Amino acid sequence: MTAPLSMLIVGAGFGGIGAAIHRRRCGDDNFLLIEQADGVGGTWWANRYPGAACDIPSHLYSFSFAPNPHWTRRYPAQPEIETYLNDCVQRFGLTPWLRLHTRLSHLHWDEVQDLWRARLFDAAGHEHELLARTVTLATGPLSRPAMPSLPRLDRFQGPVIHTARWPPEFQAGGRRIGVIGTGASAIQLVPQLARDARHLTVFQRSAPWVLPRGDAPIAATTRWLLEHLPPLQRAWRALIYAHHELRVPAFTVNPRWLQRLEPLAIRHLKARVPAGPLRDALMPNYRMGCKRILIADDYYPALTQPHVRLETAAIDEVEAHGVRLVDGRRVELDALIAATGFEAADAKPPCPVIGPQGRTLHAAWAQGPRGYLGTMVAGYPNLFTIIGPNTGLGHNSMVFIIESQLAFIDDAMRELKFHAWLCPTADAQERFNDELQARLARTVWATGCSSWYKRADGRITTLWPGSTLEYRRRTRRVPQRDFEFALA
Ligand code: NAP
Repeated sequence: MTAPLSMLIVGAGFGGIGAAIHRRRCGDDNFLLIEQADGVGGTWWANRYPGAACDIPSHLYSFSFAPNPHWTRRYPAQPEIETYLNDCVQRFGLTPWLRLHTRLSHLHWDEVQDLWRARLFDAAGHEHELLARTVTLATGPLSRPAMPSLPRLDRFQGPVIHTARWPPEFQAGGRRIGVIGTGASAIQLVPQLARDARHLTVFQRSAPWVLPRGDAPIAATTRWLLEHLPPLQRAWRALIYAHHELRVPAFTVNPRWLQRLEPLAIRHLKARVPAGPLRDALMPNYRMGCKRILIADDYYPALTQPHVRLETAAIDEVEAHGVRLVDGRRVELDALIAATGFEAADAKPPCPVIGPQGRTLHAAWAQGPRGYLGTMVAGYPNLFTIIGPNTGLGHNSMVFIIESQLAFIDDAMRELKFHAWLCPTADAQERFNDELQARLARTVWATGCSSWYKRADGRITTLWPGSTLEYRRRTRRVPQRDFEFALA
C-alpha cells in the first residue's frame, strides 16, 4: 500500500484527460488517470462505427486551452477527435500518470482515514487496492449501450452489433443489413452502410428532425492562417460558441421559438425525398428539439436508393435469418445493427460506490441520478462526477461544460488543503434539484416526446435547463453555504 493519491481519475475521455491536465497545471504529480479501454478517447474511442462524427463544429470541439488548428473538416470525424485527445495526452505529458486496461471495480469511503479505498483490476487481471483523497468519475453518460429488448434476439444467426461496440473487421459488402434506430448514430451510419450493403433496412420508430449539416473540408490556407494567427482562431471559436449559445432560449424559455426552424427541416426533407410514402414516413410528429436535433446532408439521399428501405412497422420477433414484423411480413437479414443509443437517463455509477455509513450510490440513485451542479453528490465526500446528472446540452459543446466542472473541482481541491473532506448538503442538493425540475418542466424537452433525456417516470435527469454561461458562473467557486466541510 503506497501513500494516498490526491486524486484518482476514472475514464480517459475529454473529462478525465481534462481533469488530469488541470491536476498537472496545479502542480500536482500525485494523481492517477485510469482507463479500462485499450486507448484514450472515452466515447470517441468507443464509437468507431463508419461515419462516426461530432455535430459540434470542429473549432469549438476542443479544450479552450488546447485549440487545434489542424481540423480537416468543419465537423470533426471520430478518428480526428481520437487523434486530438491522444495529442493532448502527449502535449501535456500525461503518460506517466495514465494506466490503460485498468478498471475501477469498487470504491469505498474509509471513515476512519477520510479517504476513498479503490479496488482496481489491471491489464494482467490482478486486483489491487489504492487510497485516494478524492475521486473523479469521468466515465461518461453515454457509456452503457442500450440494446433493444427484441423477443428471441438470441436466435439470430448473424452478427448483432451495437454502434458503440463496432467490430473493426465487420464488412457490409454483399450483406443484407438491418439498422434499428434513427438517432444521431444511425443517421451517420446508414449512408456509409448503404454504399456497400446488398440491401439495407432501416427500422424507424420515430422520424427525427434533420437539418442540413453543411460539412466541408477546411482549406489548407485556412488551416495555415488559424495555426499562425491564434487570435483569429480564438475569434472564430468565440463566434461559433456565440452562434450556438444564442439558441438556448428556444430550448429552455419558449419552445415555440424552435418551431421557426421546423420549415427549414421540412424544406430539407422535401428537397431530397420525392413526395410519397417515404417522405410521409420521414415527417416528424413531435415538437422540434424535444429529442436531439440531427444534422445530415446524406441521410435522406441514402434512404431514396433502390436497395435501401425505411421500415416503420415494429419488429415482432427475431428469427434465425431475419425478423418478423408485427404485420406478419418477414425481412431477411444477415446482420442486425442496434443504433439504439445509451442508458443515460438512468445513469448508474461504473461500479459499487459505498459512501459513509455504508450508503451505496446505486441505492441513492435508485429513483434516477441526482447531484449538485452535476459535479458532486450529497452524502459522498470528495467525489466528483464529470458530466454528472443534469449537465447535458441540446445546443452547445459539452467541452464547455466539462471545463466549467474542472474549474469547480480545482476550487474544491484548494478547499481540501484546509479540510479533510467537503460535500454538498442534502438540503442544498434537494433545493437545487427542485429548481432544476421546475425549470425543466418549461423546456422543449418536456413537450411530450420520449427520449433518452428522460426516465420512464418523465423526470429529465440528463439536461441542464439554462445557458452554458449560467452553468459556468455557478461552478466558478464551491458555494460555502451549500456545503459541509470536515476539518483536516
Ligand atoms: P438515440 O438518439 O437514443 O437514438 C436511438 C434510436 O433508436 C432512436 O431512433 C430510437 O427511437 C431507436 N430505438 C431505441 N430503442 C428501440 C427499439 N427497441 N426499437 C426500435 N427503435 C428503437 O441514440 P444515438 O443515436 O446513439 O445517440 C445518442 C446520443 O449520442 C445523441 O443524442 C448524441 O448526444 C450522442 N451522439 C452524438 C453524435 C454526434 O455528435 N453527431 C453522434 C452519435 C451520438 P425513438 O426515437 O422512437 O426512441
